[in-house]
Amino acid sequence: MNGKAKAAPSTDLPRLMQALRDQGITDLQVLAAIETTPRDLFTPDLFKDRSWEDSALPIACGQTISQPYIVSLMTQALTIEPRSRVLEIGTGSGYQTTILSKVSRLVYTIERYRTLMKEAEARFATLGLTNVITKFGDGGEGWAEQAPFDRIMVTAAAEDDPKRLLTQLKPNGVLVAPVGKGPVQSLRRYAGDGKGGFKVEALCDVRFVPLLDGVARDQ
Ligand code: SAH
Repeated sequence: MNGKAKAAPSTDLPRLMQALRDQGITDLQVLAAIETTPRDLFTPDLFKDRSWEDSALPIACGQTISQPYIVSLMTQALTIEPRSRVLEIGTGSGYQTTILSKVSRLVYTIERYRTLMKEAEARFATLGLTNVITKFGDGGEGWAEQAPFDRIMVTAAAEDDPKRLLTQLKPNGVLVAPVGKGPVQSLRRYAGDGKGGFKVEALCDVRFVPLLDGVARDQ
């Protein structure tokens, strides 16, 4: 953070909220979480002035902070309940994690870049979040010690169905993930049927960075 960080100009946040509603975000909890989260805390200095635009922006380590609409859509699609324990793969800036923390009981989040993890942890501390548990590691493996989860959100694109993560979901749980090879993927929602099977729905096309194996060597 430096002197360039600034609060949202008063017109920008209402404009973003309107854009989300116009695109079909109706979940009041999700809208409230977005409205009360200072996105400029999560964007790099170079892009601070674009923090309230409905667009993805570059962050450190060649990664991105997701577009607020996609963050809202994915959170809404997870149909989180107040008692839900949620696993997130791909902490990145920590923006999506923060939104999840406001609508669920506990969020477990995994990131493969130590630099991003540390920066995100500092932001969670700044915001006083007490229900976020972080881990530096390969999220593709999930978090077996803490499984099963009520909800799982993957914020990096897997080439195929995230089978391993699905095994860490409760029987009636929900997992949302971008799936596909190449720059455009399909955002999929997997809803457990309670008997070990899943109802799979394609929500829309999205562009996410790939889910990569192992941890990054960034130190
Ligand atoms: N939700 C983030 C967006 C992050 S972009 C936000 O709101 O800012 C996707 C993130 O997934 C990147 O930080 C990338 O490093 C991370 N990632 C990719 N593969 C991963 C893996 N196997 N385990 C954990 N994190 C991974």
